[in-house]
Amino acid sequence: MNLIIFGPPGGGKGTQSNNIVNDFDLKQISTGDLLRNEINLQTDLGKKIESIINNGELASDDVVNTLIEKIILDPDNFNRLIFDGYPRTILQTYSLEKLLKKFNQKISIVLSLNVDKDIILKRINGRVICDNCFKIFNVYFNPPNSKNHNCNKKYLIKRHDDNPKTILNRFETYVTKTNPILDYYKKTSSLYEIDGNQEIDEIYNKIKAILENIRD
Ligand code: AMP
Repeated sequence: MNLIIFGPPGGGKGTQSNNIVNDFDLKQISTGDLLRNEINLQTDLGKKIESIINNGELASDDVVNTLIEKIILDPDNFNRLIFDGYPRTILQTYSLEKLLKKFNQKISIVLSLNVDKDIILKRINGRVICDNCFKIFNVYFNPPNSKNHNCNKKYLIKRHDDNPKTILNRFETYVTKTNPILDYYKKTSSLYEIDGNQEIDEIYNKIKAILENIRD
C-alpha cells in the first residue's frame, strides 16, 4: 500500500513515519529531506531553493514533482511508499495521482495528524535531527541517547527553518495551501484524522491499529 501522512510542520509526520517503517514493509519519502539533501550537497537545485526553504516558503511544484517522479519510477518502491510532506499543494496532489495511476498504483490511505499551534511551537523549539541517519529527536520529549541513536553526536543539528519566525510562516502555508488537499482526499480515499497532540507512542498505537486493518 501507498500512504500519505499529513500534518502541520512539527506535527510529528517524520517521527510517526519512522515508527511505521520499523513495523511495516514501507519506505518513507520526505520531500523536506530530499530538498535539504540538495542544499547540503550544494547542487544547482540546492542553491536555488536554500533561501526559499529557510524562509518557510514552498519549493516550486515542478521541483518536487520531478523528485517524486524519480522515486515512483523505481521498481523497488512499488506500492510501498509513505509520502511525508508531499503533496503540499493541490497541483502536487493532481500530479501524484496521475503518476500513480500511470504506474498502476494508488493511495490506499491518508493519515492526518491534527496538532494545536502551541504544541507545535514547543516541539519545533526542541527538535534536533541527525544529519547522517535523518532520525528526529526532541531535547525535551524524546532526547537522543545511546539506545535510540547510533551515529556520532556531531551529526545532531537544529534545522535552519526551525525558528519561531519561520515556523509561523510554515504553519500559515500549511493552513492555506495544504489543508485544502484534505477535502480532496475526503472524497477520494480513506482519510483518518488522528489527534496528534498526544504522546508519540499513543499516537503511533492508533496509527498501527489502522494500518493493521488495511489489506492491500
Ligand atoms: P518538511 O521537512 O516537510 O518540514 O519540509 C521543510 C521545507 O521543505 C518546507 O517548509 C518547504 O520549504 C520545503 N518542502 C518540503 N516538501 C515540500 C513540498 N512537497 N512542496 C514544496 N516545498 C516543500
